[in-house]
Amino acid sequence: MSNKLLKNINRVSKIFQPVKVIPKEAVLKPDERAKSYRLMLDMGVIRQANSGMYTLLPLGYRVLEKLVAIVDHEMTNIGAQKMLLPNLTSAKLWQKTGRLQGMGPELMKFTDRHEEKFILSPTYEEAITSLITKIGSVQKSQLPLLLYQISTKWRDEMKPRLGLFRSREFIMKDLYSFDVTIEDATETYESVKQAYNRILSHIGVPYTVALGDPGLMGGNLSHEFHYLSDIGEDKILSCSSCEVNVNATIIDKTTCFNCGSELTEQKGIEVGHTFLLGNKYSRALGASCHVQGDHVFFEMGCYGLGLTRLMAAVVEILSTEESLRWPKCLAPFTVCILPPKEKSKESTAAHFTDAFIEMLDKRNIDFIVDDRTNLTIGRRILDAKRTGYPYLIIIGKNSVQDSPLFEVHDVNNKLVLDMSVDQLIDFFSNSNDDSEKIHEAIA
Ligand SMILES: [Zn+2]
Repeated sequence: MSNKLLKNINRVSKIFQPVKVIPKEAVLKPDERAKSYRLMLDMGVIRQANSGMYTLLPLGYRVLEKLVAIVDHEMTNIGAQKMLLPNLTSAKLWQKTGRLQGMGPELMKFTDRHEEKFILSPTYEEAITSLITKIGSVQKSQLPLLLYQISTKWRDEMKPRLGLFRSREFIMKDLYSFDVTIEDATETYESVKQAYNRILSHIGVPYTVALGDPGLMGGNLSHEFHYLSDIGEDKILSCSSCEVNVNATIIDKTTCFNCGSELTEQKGIEVGHTFLLGNKYSRALGASCHVQGDHVFFEMGCYGLGLTRLMAAVVEILSTEESLRWPKCLAPFTVCILPPKEKSKESTAAHFTDAFIEMLDKRNIDFIVDDRTNLTIGRRILDAKRTGYPYLIIIGKNSVQDSPLFEVHDVNNKLVLDMSVDQLIDFFSNSNDDSEKIHEAIA
């Protein structure tokens, strides 16, 4: 590697990734925690700060940023505008909607030096509706008005558990919609649901949409987006004959309300929730629109997507007991390049590292170089796989042949392929296609 390139690239020797070293002779007790939680702690992706509060270390934060980019893209597609509300909401607003008492001890409260009461917001219906009320001049031509933010939320869980699954501080995308008729609000609701489907399809881990419980939010229509997993806390009932999925809390019979067939129960991790709210909040806080000289209370919707929980859920579903696995689009780095061990026979092939860096850079594929060339290739492969990089490029023993070959690991699909430079370039030029197609092209 030339020194010029080294300065600007991400290197394993430099990355702040405090991996937990487990002594070889240690007898490991069975671990009750979710594997996603254990692996993210062990591999230096997150770190606990307090009970239910976590630091996202550099690798974890890269995952979040990739997720944010996917969400932003789909929010822009439906005309939603990004903004940022203060984390503290006046307790008076929550008093007006009746939720100050309703939410109970899970609400984190805070009193400032002037004895003003605030809450560390778990959600922002009051804050955003109050903003619209104070502005007071939203015109019908601006509708539907869709505003969202991505920020930290708080819930004072009695028993925070499983790391990012049920934490007291978490990062959520919350969107609020404003329309004047129920018909328009329903149309907006559908478009947001479709955006959620596109986000989750892009991430690529199978998910289920279930009819949900409006609960404390109020309103009359709600859907939940779940990853099915045994560690989930929700019970999802699915019909064997039709498309119906429903949260077990909202029905009392065990047959499908649509077709009468048997329902089967599975556990789900809720990552998204959409609510058609009606005018509960706009009426309580006086948010209205001028329509032909009249004031009409807004028909609202609210839509949450738990980003840190989603990170944990996909890891829980994809990972093995020993190794983190990320969806390709969310991995902290897509590719890890492993140059040869220093003073080994193949160390003369080290110059290929520069060529691969340039090739990936040109294609906007993010990568990290495991430059710890004092370590064997085998050891570094193990580390890269445990961290969960989807692709490894290894400059190993076949790289010094007359026609050099390089090992490419497609980690998520458990494929190891020997490729020439040309094949490797083809592979990464098409790496957004199905891996199967690429495999065929090479074979
Ligand atoms: Zn059915």
